Amino acid sequence: MSKLEVAFAFEIDGKEVDPREVTDPEMKTKIEKIVESVSGKVGGLRCPHHDEAPRFVCYGPNFDDLSMEVHGCCDALVNIVKGGLSD
Ligand SMILES: [Zn+2]
Repeated sequence: MSKLEVAFAFEIDGKEVDPREVTDPEMKTKIEKIVESVSGKVGGLRCPHHDEAPRFVCYGPNFDDLSMEVHGCCDALVNIVKGGLSD
């Protein structure tokens, strides 16, 4: 599974940032690390009820201080993904 198939959104300092449009190499590395770590853990997960993939929103004041939210079609998927992330 390619990491590009995992849906990520970044919101830095209240602004939406498209990871594909980030040109700063340091930021790019940070984004790639987050995406790789998350997709390595839960990238292949699908909802058992709806066969939907989760989406991830990373937000914070800057790339060094990010929190992540998991979005899914229903609580079942969100719980499965959160369980996978905490392993
Ligand atoms: Zn679902």
